[in-house]
Amino acid sequence: MGSSAIQIPSRLPLLLTNEGVLLPGSSMRISVETWRNIQLVKSRLLKGTSVRSTIIGVIPNTKDPDSDSQELPHLHRIGTAGIAVQIVGSNWPKPHYTLLITGLCRFHIVEVLKEKPYPVAEVEQLDRLEQYTNGIGELSELSQQFYKYAIQLVEMLDMSVPVVAKLRHLLDSLPKETLPDILASIIRTSTNEKLQILDAVGLEERFKKTIPLLVRQIEGLKLLQKTQKSKPNDEKRVVTIRSIRRNNQIPGRPLHLDAVEEEDDDDDGDDIVMLEKKIKSTNMPEQAMKVCIKEIKRLKKMPQSMPEFALTRNYLELMVELPWNKSTTDRLDLRAARVLLDSDHYAMQKLKQRVLEYLAVRQLKNNLKGPILCFVGPPGVGKTSVGRSIAKTLGREFYRIALGGVCDQSDIRGHRRTYVGSMPGRIVNGLKTVGVNNPVFLLDEIDKLGKSLQGDPAAALLEVLDPEQNHSFTDHYLNVSFDLSQVLFIATANTTATIPPALLDRMELIQVPGYIQEEKIEIAHRHLIPKQLELHGLTPQQIQIPQEATEDIISRYTREAGVRSLERKIGAICRAVAVKVAEGQHGVTKSSRSHVTEKEGKESVPEETKDESITDTTELALPPELPIVIDRRALKDILGAPIYEMEVSQRLSQPGVAIGLAWTPLGGEIMFVEASRMEGEGQLTLTGQLGDVMKESAHLAISWLRSNAKKYHLTNAAGSFDLLDNTDIHLHFPAGAVTKDGPSAGVTIVTCLASLFSGHLVRSDVAMTGEITLRGLVLPVGGIKDKVLAAHRASLKRVILPKRNEKDLDEIPANMREDLDFVTAFCLDDVLNAAFDGGFPAESRHSILNSKL
Ligand code: ADP
Repeated sequence: MGSSAIQIPSRLPLLLTNEGVLLPGSSMRISVETWRNIQLVKSRLLKGTSVRSTIIGVIPNTKDPDSDSQELPHLHRIGTAGIAVQIVGSNWPKPHYTLLITGLCRFHIVEVLKEKPYPVAEVEQLDRLEQYTNGIGELSELSQQFYKYAIQLVEMLDMSVPVVAKLRHLLDSLPKETLPDILASIIRTSTNEKLQILDAVGLEERFKKTIPLLVRQIEGLKLLQKTQKSKPNDEKRVVTIRSIRRNNQIPGRPLHLDAVEEEDDDDDGDDIVMLEKKIKSTNMPEQAMKVCIKEIKRLKKMPQSMPEFALTRNYLELMVELPWNKSTTDRLDLRAARVLLDSDHYAMQKLKQRVLEYLAVRQLKNNLKGPILCFVGPPGVGKTSVGRSIAKTLGREFYRIALGGVCDQSDIRGHRRTYVGSMPGRIVNGLKTVGVNNPVFLLDEIDKLGKSLQGDPAAALLEVLDPEQNHSFTDHYLNVSFDLSQVLFIATANTTATIPPALLDRMELIQVPGYIQEEKIEIAHRHLIPKQLELHGLTPQQIQIPQEATEDIISRYTREAGVRSLERKIGAICRAVAVKVAEGQHGVTKSSRSHVTEKEGKESVPEETKDESITDTTELALPPELPIVIDRRALKDILGAPIYEMEVSQRLSQPGVAIGLAWTPLGGEIMFVEASRMEGEGQLTLTGQLGDVMKESAHLAISWLRSNAKKYHLTNAAGSFDLLDNTDIHLHFPAGAVTKDGPSAGVTIVTCLASLFSGHLVRSDVAMTGEITLRGLVLPVGGIKDKVLAAHRASLKRVILPKRNEKDLDEIPANMREDLDFVTAFCLDDVLNAAFDGGFPAESRHSILNSKL
């Protein structure tokens, strides 16, 4: 029974796992913890009647294992389609499932179709029968050799153990081409080696890659048996079996799904002895050692079938693994740190300077006590990445703890070990993962901590961050204290408004503002493009993204303070080009390839590349059309039509629309305000999820306009200066799903209504911000720099802001100040004069337009 009979759908939901590599023909337990995977399980596997019928794609996630962020990590392009044969888990205290998945066949990701809530990709099925039947003759020698080794391996084991007998049977009954995958998943291999087997799409390569692993295992067993000779027989057998069995891999048949793990009871007795030895050799504090010894004594007396047995064993295994005394040695050379920070990050001078000062002080004082650094700024401005660089300069391990949405204090501090499913908290988990007690922990999105009935996570964090307390941090699960005083904590946040004051008090805030266009271009060319090229295995000889293209992506395809979507768009371009390049390679035969390079090789191809491709024809030679240059047309082909073109002026083509500037935790944004009027009884309707302060601004604006209607020649549809007479007004703030509040929209509402009642269009290149009073004065507001950046991003030309905010303009970079015309307003007269062409009221045009209405 081969993988040939399997036909997988062309679209698969993808499950990212960092627990290893699933290979076709074997089964693996995967614990589902990340938000993305939980969503996948809930919507694909738990809904409907038949669990078995859903095929999902399992992708090993080895590069970025700590990622539970919103961002999809870089995906390994080859995965294994699998069927979930068993799901266990619960929704309480939080969703957690374990899947038993059987692998069916390989697939290749053609394109990621959507990323949220879980990734879905268009895939191409690999491992088809046709592939094997062609040319199986040449392969038969390899496969015979493989079979011989496999038999040799199995025969070294004890046939009386059911698993071994089953394995022996499988070797004969399964088609030979499925054996490399199955054996690779049961012998001892590293994740990396398995990844190589997964990537070995061709059968010949797969046989060749697996044989050395088999041989290594056989040699290992021989050695083991030699050293065991003196020991009694049954002990020898136990060791031998375990040495080839992987903890979560089970051999099985792909389609019969009969791969149910058989408990190997003999393992456990031996395990405990080993565990005890390990505990005794671990250098843990006295108190922890005492607890471990007590637990191991209990474990010895416990029947293995008791649920508590497994619990206790897991606990002890964790205790052994924790880095009680293991640490890395700090190396800090400030000059080197400066160079590293500079080479990893463009711009952000203020931040880098502050980080260096911080490190210098730490070095002089030689301890870590003091405030925790907290980087505050919009997403994608490099906060996490600076954190990573700090770890690198210090030579420390780095671990990111995503706090977004954490609303249960046991997330931080762990669950008590009294109930099944209890786990240590994220801090202890992080320590286990990095394996040292002095890593850099990045507490990401500390402003998104929630609260719930299960206690306040902020309180638990306080304890973690407090230098007076954290040398004896007690995780509920561990129940003994762990010294966190050597950990360097760094936090990030989008806004300080939602950080609990007590936490805020412990932190030193460093603002990281958004980037202007010029900075983004530099960042793209110095960092993002090289990084994405490398990720996609491309070279500058294959793809060129000129500066104009980058400018286009920035202004027409993204609108953000940071560079995250920019990086994603560049990634999309690289993927598209990688496909082209791969197709190009495919189509050119060996002999014609060198011919192409010799005769048609482009001028721009560097000499050494040419030489290489001529001497080594099996390597990639450049097909004639390379490098692929990304111009506007290519952008449109790959990214679709521009998203942000023309939008502003189109929307301002009617009276009753104005552009305001808003500050959000994601950076500044331009915000449209729309108004319309209709017959009615003087009602004001407000839509767009407004907060109370904003609603009040709207009422203020109407009152002011009504009392000044005569002065500005504002009339309702019937020509009366009583604006609300027989008239209803509807004010709408588009992007209705986002809650908006704050007083700074005051001037925009006035301008928008003035436009509605006068019939004049607001200038399409002007944006404004400012609070108003009933008397028509304009009061200062916050977030000027971010707001100005947003106006600049949207290519607006004029910004109206309160007079008293004039001082904030000093922070705006000079080249941007040149692009923009700033009008400072003391009262609403100034605002209206600057917002309409030719000032306000513009009598002559007014009468013409109004008569048309
Ligand atoms: P944040 O944590 O602020 O949301 P990240 O650190 O995840 O943002 O940054 C997103 C991406 O942008 C990363 O790939 C990062 O390397 C890159 N990046 C951001 N700012 C810069 C910069 N100034 N120089 C180089 N790369 C940058």
